[in-house]
Amino acid sequence: MIKLHDLYFKPFISEQDIQDAVSRMVNTIANDLADKVPVFIGILNGSFMFVSDFVKKYPKPCEVTFIKLASYEGVKSSEDIQRLIGLTQDLTGRTVVILEDIIDSGNTLNEVHRIFKNENVKQLLIATLFYKPEAYKKDFKLHYVGIEIPNKFIVGYGLDYDGLGRDLPEIYQQKTTQHMTNIVLFGPPGAGKGTQANFLKEKYNLVHISTGDVFRFNIKNETALGMLAKSFMDKGELVPDQVTIDMLNAEVEKNADAKGFIFDGFPRTNAQAEALDKLMDSKDSQINAMIALEVDDEILVERLLERGKSSGRADDADESIIRNRITEYYKKTAILKDYYAEQNKYFGVDGVGSIEDITERLSDVIDKL
Ligand code: AMP
Repeated sequence: MIKLHDLYFKPFISEQDIQDAVSRMVNTIANDLADKVPVFIGILNGSFMFVSDFVKKYPKPCEVTFIKLASYEGVKSSEDIQRLIGLTQDLTGRTVVILEDIIDSGNTLNEVHRIFKNENVKQLLIATLFYKPEAYKKDFKLHYVGIEIPNKFIVGYGLDYDGLGRDLPEIYQQKTTQHMTNIVLFGPPGAGKGTQANFLKEKYNLVHISTGDVFRFNIKNETALGMLAKSFMDKGELVPDQVTIDMLNAEVEKNADAKGFIFDGFPRTNAQAEALDKLMDSKDSQINAMIALEVDDEILVERLLERGKSSGRADDADESIIRNRITEYYKKTAILKDYYAEQNKYFGVDGVGSIEDITERLSDVIDKL
């Protein structure tokens, strides 16, 4: 993801996909024009990269020139288009191919046709690398289209947002949801995830979702989900993935305006981590970090037995169930460290010390994200 001025953009079309589209257009156009020597006319500024790549690939003699029109103000296509640098050469009897980087409303095309009305060209063909069918409101024929895209604002490969982004070799699409900070708080049972999440959610204005808490709430209210989860939880086993994933998705959806989430107790398996990535992706967002509280097993058992005296949790009361939860953690959950480490998103934090000290250690990581 990148930030240009005040907006966030996510990768949308790769360099390779762009080059493939340009090659396809070159082949079709070269084939259609046979032995004519065309004049390719790029519309500045946006088309400079496309025209450059296009003519480098074009296999036969051709001429290249540019005209400059102003059509964008910020992110909205403006009605008010001015021709800034016009044509300087005689195009009488020539085959002209307009090379546009993008056609959305079609306002630029209007101007192009107005300019060429009096040029006596033999043939005027329109070729555009990107095309937004949902935005196009004109009747002019588009002879060659590279890639059709949805009606969302894009930058890169010549296209800018208020001057920035033209230099990027790939295309990025504007993120329409607000920027979120999403953290997975990780660690074995008893590591202090819930305690720390309560401080961090206040400090960073995030929504805290503890899957364990949601399950317990459902058990207390005797819902179908609660009844299902209880049988697993009482033994210290994990609730099946699909049940947990559906519940987590619903919790996230309930907080559509959140500035971000602290996930506590989720994900616990690879399938859950992949489901979480998918969910974040659907929100134009991502997990920024997994922060793990590292605590020795024997300290965990001690802490959980102590908590069991007052928490009322059946799974905190019995040492063998506690040990089973810790075993489940190492068997199924600890592997997620690799999942996030591979993306450079794993941060280990010493989970032994005073609550305040540990909050500070966690904050140090979050502040640097
Ligand atoms: P916790 O409060 O995080 O210690 O969770 C208590 C119990 O809830 C666990 O031992 C599991 O039985 C169940 N649980 C919580 N989160 C998950 C999850 N992400 N996947 C499967 N089971 C979970």
